Amino acid sequence: MNITPISLTGGFDPAVEPPGPLDRFGRRINYLRISLTDVCNLRCVYCMPEHMTFRPRHELMSDQELLTITRIMASLGVDKIRLTGGEPTVRPNLVEIVRSIARLPGLRDLAMTTNGLLLPQLAEPLARAGLTRLNISLDTLDAAKFKRITRWGDLDTVWAGVEAAEAAGLRPLKINSVVTRGFNEDEVASLARLTLERDWEVRFIEVMPFGGEADFAQSAVVSSAETRQRIEDELGPLYEIPGYDGRDPARPYRLAGARGSIGFISTITEPFCAGCNRMRLTADGTLRLCLLRDGELDLLTPLRDGMDEATLTQHILQAIYDKPWGHGLPDGAIPQSRIMSQIGG
Ligand code: SAM
Ligand code: SF4
Repeated sequence: MNITPISLTGGFDPAVEPPGPLDRFGRRINYLRISLTDVCNLRCVYCMPEHMTFRPRHELMSDQELLTITRIMASLGVDKIRLTGGEPTVRPNLVEIVRSIARLPGLRDLAMTTNGLLLPQLAEPLARAGLTRLNISLDTLDAAKFKRITRWGDLDTVWAGVEAAEAAGLRPLKINSVVTRGFNEDEVASLARLTLERDWEVRFIEVMPFGGEADFAQSAVVSSAETRQRIEDELGPLYEIPGYDGRDPARPYRLAGARGSIGFISTITEPFCAGCNRMRLTADGTLRLCLLRDGELDLLTPLRDGMDEATLTQHILQAIYDKPWGHGLPDGAIPQSRIMSQIGG
């Protein structure tokens, strides 16, 4: 690999600019999403096959390896971290991992995306360990549809998890809803209605194709425009909320009189590459600079082979600098190397 020396701070003056190294397009990359495991206790139809083979434990980062890489990232100016999976709550030692990451200097935000099933027992210890926010995935409020989408999930348990999260102070909550044709496109108004009473942000996500699961996603995609129209037809107009942060993939809207907000993540119909400030660390220790492009940098092998931290840091900075712009879905280039559960969303 050809390594161009880059300033460890990406050239920013911490006194006047937000932290995080720059890529070659001038985007500041301050947000790391870490997949803690590829294992999950559900099998959502758009995410993974029912009979899934997971990676052997020794191929995944140990707690120590995970913390070493995360500490390097924080030293570069990463100030926002999201834990994901697979299902992050099934990772052994989760509370200890959260506690260690939360102590990293400069970290401003430590969030998690979860299916919520284990939150009844974990929300409180996670909040005490330093977790700041939660996104809970919920595609329907109908128990039978929930079982069909997740293959065996129990909606009441997720709902108990939502309540445990609120009671633990992990709020305001974000709800992630992937909209898939034939499964829940007729549920979007019910989900949007939640924002009338609750100060949550409900985000509707266009389903994306990955590897072996691509056929399903391609036949099931529902555009954000259609989802929005369905919501407005049933609940009235959506009003744009001023002050949108261009780095957030979802521009926020509100129903008249609502406490919460509604967002649309339109990766397929309206890619948001210009504001992208994120990178992903997979559970087996590779750095992925674009969700929808297969290019990755293996960090775990060099770390295990004894590469010194300064050299590893230069590799990371080079990969960040080379972060791609634009995905290839319109040209039929579907990411093949991993499915969503192996990246983390
Ligand atoms: N298991 C956790 C959960 O479901 O929240 C975290 C991992 S999951 C891969 C992260 C997010 O990706 C979830 O909100 C999930 O609904 C979403 N997701 C999974 N497969 C997707 C796909 N093919 N297209 C769009 N979103 C997807
Ligand atoms: Fe598991 Fe999350 Fe994928 Fe559903 S979306 S199968 S809960 S990793």
